[in-house]
Amino acid sequence: MTIEKTYLIPTSVTEAIEMAKANLGSFKYLAGGTDVMVNRYQGNEESPCLIDISKLSELKGITKEEEFLRIGALEILEELKFNQDLKTEFPMLIEAALTVGAPLLRKTATIGGNVLCENRCLFYNQSEWWREAVGYCLKCDLPAGKAGGDICIATQGKNACFSELVSDTAPALIAMDAEVEILDGDETKQVPLEDIYTGDGVTPRNLSETAILTAIFLPLNREFKTAFHKLRERESLEFTSLTSAVAIDKNGKLKIALSGVDPKAVVVEGTVKDEKAALIKKAIKGGRAVDNDMYSRKYRREMINVYLNRSFKKLKI
Ligand SMILES: Cc1cc2nc3c(=O)[nH]c(=O)nc-3n(C[C@H](O)[C@H](O)[C@H](O)COP(=O)(O)OP(=O)(O)OC[C@H]3O[C@@H](n4cnc5c(N)ncnc54)[C@H](O)[C@@H]3O)c2cc1C
Repeated sequence: MTIEKTYLIPTSVTEAIEMAKANLGSFKYLAGGTDVMVNRYQGNEESPCLIDISKLSELKGITKEEEFLRIGALEILEELKFNQDLKTEFPMLIEAALTVGAPLLRKTATIGGNVLCENRCLFYNQSEWWREAVGYCLKCDLPAGKAGGDICIATQGKNACFSELVSDTAPALIAMDAEVEILDGDETKQVPLEDIYTGDGVTPRNLSETAILTAIFLPLNREFKTAFHKLRERESLEFTSLTSAVAIDKNGKLKIALSGVDPKAVVVEGTVKDEKAALIKKAIKGGRAVDNDMYSRKYRREMINVYLNRSFKKLKI
């Protein structure tokens, strides 16, 4: 049977949501497409309908709104470095964005797509024939009629998925108390970014299928001092094995956020007066890293210790 494929281009966010409602269970929003299209190529994403939101001007622009800097979800990663407000108040976001993939990819990839990009695992981000050969896994969306995987291959049997959050901008944003604006139907809500991640690798986000992330809000005038590190095999074109972001504000509030070591962001909050060893211990304990990455679980956990110590040294706390 041939499945009809459709490519829809809405002219407003409202229309995009209407199109989504009409294609429930069989559509995917497309922003920069650098994540969606690779997943489609690998057969991990097979929605017959694509809703291309990349032209929606409502989702673009960086503006000051009361005590926040509002970053439209479609802002392109490579272009963040040209924004003066980001350069002055949130340079860590630019630093994080510039570690994503490679320049060509960053010229298409959006910040909204980055915080929502699919979780990854060495045993899942493989070709269809590879996944079939190992009997699939919990996260594999099986082609109709095939026997499926009911265990996590990385852990050799656990009945839970540990595919990792790999967004590099998410930890930087979370450490600086970013909130995201979500539009779903007629309802708009603004929530801390970390709250959209579930911790379940199969369904890593708690957003409804039709929800659109419209913007990201960063709090102004907090005078953040920050430290950012990313562990990867090559300096270019490599997903993270551990991304660490630390921010302290003018009142001494401290926030650590990690990606690459858990299906969600690992978040530890405290103050500059807290004992550093205890904060590091909490961060290591918070990540449920398993051996599903180029680097071993043991090494990545040790690197949390290394990166956080380096961060505290840089921040002189
Ligand atoms: C070779 C390669 C290397 C990469 N390296 C990295 C890396 O180092 N670090 C990293 O973080 N990522 C990396 N990526 C993943 C990806 O390119 C980035 O995460 C990118 O920022 C995704 O943005 P996008 O606009 O292309 O998202 P898309 O592919 O368009 O979308 C990603 C997901 O978000 C959804 N989505 C997008 N925008 C919205 C919105 N506004 N509202 C609701 N849903 C939305 C889509 O439906 C999809 O599920 C890499 C990808 C490749 C192919």
